[in-house]
Amino acid sequence: MSISKNLENVKSALPESVTLVAVSKTKPISDLMEAYSAGQRIFGENKIQEMAEKWENMPKDIQWHMIGHVQRNKVKYMAEFVDLIHGVDSLKLLKEINKQAQKHNRVINCLLQIKIAEEDSKFGISADEASTLLQSESFTELKHINITGVMGMATFTDDMKQVEKEFKFLKSTFDILKNLLSNLSTVSMGMSGDYLLAIECGSTMVRVGSSIFGKRNYT
Ligand SMILES: *Cc1c(COP(=O)(O)O)cnc(C)c1O
Repeated sequence: MSISKNLENVKSALPESVTLVAVSKTKPISDLMEAYSAGQRIFGENKIQEMAEKWENMPKDIQWHMIGHVQRNKVKYMAEFVDLIHGVDSLKLLKEINKQAQKHNRVINCLLQIKIAEEDSKFGISADEASTLLQSESFTELKHINITGVMGMATFTDDMKQVEKEFKFLKSTFDILKNLLSNLSTVSMGMSGDYLLAIECGSTMVRVGSSIFGKRNYT
């Protein structure tokens, strides 16, 4: 199947209110351009340097989302152009994003990554830590940051009941945080294997890679 056909299939299953991030990590620009030609304008990458290289070489009306773990010392490489950073999990990181955004006279949109999986390996903060952060004075001083919602990664498992529980937990965390910050609008959850379930549980933004671009080859 072609990338444009895959994209059409995925899009046809999404309600209009759900945003599709086409996760293009490891894929060549020619593959991304195929999706671009089919109308896709939002791409997700998990390595900052790879994303910056693609940004430099691709049309400028693309919105670039950083979906991977962010190292503070690399924020400067994407501050000029990144549209949304999904994986924000500390005040320290927010301060660095704020500082780099200020240099470019920008306000950068961020999602707080909430730890929803039971596995230890996943990044993210607890719901309590997120609400403390949003209420802290240091946070309100960050004028170049716009927190627009939350993001979560479910446990890597075939047990869909487990995944459903974690998605519902993220949605309820979002509802609680929205009481603190009423302009929150985004719940980023769901990937190729579980985006339909994620939407049932309240996702407003799905991150779909292999169902559009095919399997990734990491060698
Ligand atoms: C790679 C990745 C995805 C996409 O995964 P697929 O299973 O290929 O759809 C989504 N979210 C994050 C954070 C990822 O790293």
